[in-house]
Amino acid sequence: MSCRAWFTDDAQLPPAAPVLAICVGHSRYNDMGAVACDEETNEWTYNLQVAKSIKEELDDAGVPSVIVHEYTGNNYSESMKNLSVELRGLKVDAAIELHFNAATPAAHGSETLYWYKSKKSAKLAKCLQDQVVKTFGVKDRGAKPKTAKSRGAKFLRETHCPAVITEPFFGSNAEDWEMFKDSFDTLGSSLAEGFINYYNNEKTGSQLTQRTQV
Ligand SMILES: [Zn+2]
Repeated sequence: MSCRAWFTDDAQLPPAAPVLAICVGHSRYNDMGAVACDEETNEWTYNLQVAKSIKEELDDAGVPSVIVHEYTGNNYSESMKNLSVELRGLKVDAAIELHFNAATPAAHGSETLYWYKSKKSAKLAKCLQDQVVKTFGVKDRGAKPKTAKSRGAKFLRETHCPAVITEPFFGSNAEDWEMFKDSFDTLGSSLAEGFINYYNNEKTGSQLTQRTQV
């Protein structure tokens, strides 16, 4: 093997640590999340397809990522604790957890949740939220800060890195569901693009390597 081959052959390079963890919400045993108004599709099944699509887009863009679609632990708190240890071990720079919303039939729109003290998470949430609204023209409920009392807060708070929860639509709303039900790939591309916007911005500020929660 020539020196040139040594330096240019990707197989010789150590594998890059994933930059983004794409976590599929409700990945704990016996928890599939809310069911959409087709009375069939649950959050976990829908979002596993979205996660695959995000990963493909990021692979194409040269941004390493990892999908987490199985959580260990007997309850929500335990699984979030285990997940935070796993994500720290993977040395990811950021994490997103995929969900969809469910409420009264009239509630609709997209929102993205972040821990209220984390400025980087707020930036990441805004990048993802803006991109989804731009792609789908869905009602903009905004990037929303969450505190310890909020549902899902442990994912936002216990992770070592910037972390957000995406709720791009209400599965319980007929119009939202119509818009998103077959759009795993479009949603995946949109979220990947939103993440790349955040990533490029952070890289320019050369802050992404610090790997500390801010
Ligand atoms: Zn959920």
